[in-house]
Amino acid sequence: APDLLTFGETMVSLRSAGPLAAGGSLTMHLAGAESNVAVGVARLGHRAAWVGRVSGDEFGEYTLRQLRAEGIGVDGVTRDAERPTGLMFLEQRTADLTRVQYHRAGSAGSALDVDDLRAPLAAGARMLHLTGITPALSDTAREATRWAAQAAAEAGIPVCLDVNYRARLWSRDSAREVLTPLAGYASVVIASADELDLVGDPEADESTVVADLFRRGVRTVLVKLGSDGARAHTPDGIQQVGALTVTAVDPVGAGDAFTAGYLSGWFDGLDLAGRLRRAATLGAFAVSSRGDCEGLPRRAELSLLEGHETGSVL
Ligand code: ATP
Repeated sequence: APDLLTFGETMVSLRSAGPLAAGGSLTMHLAGAESNVAVGVARLGHRAAWVGRVSGDEFGEYTLRQLRAEGIGVDGVTRDAERPTGLMFLEQRTADLTRVQYHRAGSAGSALDVDDLRAPLAAGARMLHLTGITPALSDTAREATRWAAQAAAEAGIPVCLDVNYRARLWSRDSAREVLTPLAGYASVVIASADELDLVGDPEADESTVVADLFRRGVRTVLVKLGSDGARAHTPDGIQQVGALTVTAVDPVGAGDAFTAGYLSGWFDGLDLAGRLRRAATLGAFAVSSRGDCEGLPRRAELSLLEGHETGSVL
């Protein structure tokens, strides 16, 4: 069984170096929050498996090749000859501004259903990672996500939920209705500070939402704070980690890298401070290299950013 089992939609992203309206070259990359996390943990030497549906055409072939090249288990991947791969355009409009455009409605990835997840879950894993993107993709994907979270929790497999709110896919109210019960199956909940209202009472403050999550069985709540680092709530209290001092060139993928680092630290048996440091280190690698996951470190590279710690906490 793998260390990490994850599932979701992986898209192909096409990046332009300038305004899309001006045309020119596009470069092809893999894009998907869950597969980014799988890449992050696999690069650090852990076993990761990704489950999802990819198209029968060359984009599906590309997706599988990329995942295989990272050493990610793809036995649970289904080729869907009827539906296309979701596409995402990342337009570097100005040096500071990247615009995103999706062509993902009706994609192969969105057709995920419960049956895709039965065998991989039965095979077990040390951790199941899911995101709040998958339940927004379709009715079947929503049911698959809920089923997997419940089945894992019942089988004693800890669940990690990254809220990952996507405003293009659903409203905050719809997201809250689905993600709040989903969080009850999780042992780790990861959110940006502005996403906590999606897993609890929208009127409540952070500590109240966190206390409610603890009451529902969550053990750790990680709140990502961008270049300010992150804080972790556990029933023992709050721990903070500062961001590493790096030159940020591409913020995309920082959150997924952070999650991969946290889970890697957990697989290695590190204490909370060690898991947070690994998470912040991967987040720093992600923002200081271009691409969603291209810049994520192999284990021997983790030390490259040593000495970049701010040393300060918030
Ligand atoms: P995204 O959605 O763009 O992937 P996110 O909002 O999910 O990002 P962030 O809070 O932006 O996640 O970043 C995750 C982690 O990455 C932070 O907790 C921090 O450790 C690291 N990080 C983010 N921005 C920077 C930065 N400018 N410099 C160093 N580290 C950073």
